[in-house]
Amino acid sequence: MEDKELSDLTMSRVECPKCGAIWINGEHRWSGTGNKGSELDLAGLVCNKHGNFQCINPMKGQEGGDTWAKRMEDLSNGPDWPKDK
Ligand SMILES: [Zn+2]
Repeated sequence: MEDKELSDLTMSRVECPKCGAIWINGEHRWSGTGNKGSELDLAGLVCNKHGNFQCINPMKGQEGGDTWAKRMEDLSNGPDWPKDK
């Protein structure tokens, strides 16, 4: 019956009450895409700025991940960016 199938597919899903970030079976996934994410990038992009005591990201407060500042820099330094000559 359905009950048995459900028990085979047991997975834990934890959502950060502050950032809305999701962990499935202990792996951080980007909400929306469901792709596997980096907790460190999440910290740099979201949790370090917006997280508070509610944030459950284990990497919160860690430096070294992706940040918006870094992303903007990457954009402006993009090697394939078309340039006027
Ligand atoms: Zn968080």
